[in-house]
Amino acid sequence: MAQNDLDELYGNDLIRDHNRNPRNSAKLNSPDLVADAVNPFCGDEAHFQINLDGQGRVSEVGYEGVGCAICRSAGSMLSEVIKGHTLEGVEEISGLFQDMMFGVEPSEEQAALLGDLTSMTGVRAFPIRIKCALLAWSAIEDRISEHQRRQP
Ligand code: ZN
Repeated sequence: MAQNDLDELYGNDLIRDHNRNPRNSAKLNSPDLVADAVNPFCGDEAHFQINLDGQGRVSEVGYEGVGCAICRSAGSMLSEVIKGHTLEGVEEISGLFQDMMFGVEPSEEQAALLGDLTSMTGVRAFPIRIKCALLAWSAIEDRISEHQRRQP
């Protein structure tokens, strides 16, 4: 990987900002859902606590990321974009994000749902880093499908 390509990627202001100042970094006490994922390949970790309101929408998120800038900032962006959405809505955004990371350009409406995550398109040039961008979503998706199986 050419060093100047990497500089360009990390030079993305949003990625840099989320890496340095992760959003929703306060840990929630007794959350409704806890989601964790670890990528043993590069040591990245993503840890989430999620609270749901009476309508089943995400009301509060706590997030901690450990590892590279891509993983940390993608988790921070995720913690913002899922607020106000039902778990089905979160799954939909997750699908949009995965599509985007594998080359599908989001529509304007989809880009609005993805928020700051649209800044991750530069990561597509570094296939090994796509896993870092997707780690946080894999944690959330696993936990949502488990949660939904437990519903009557
Ligand atoms: Zn990584």
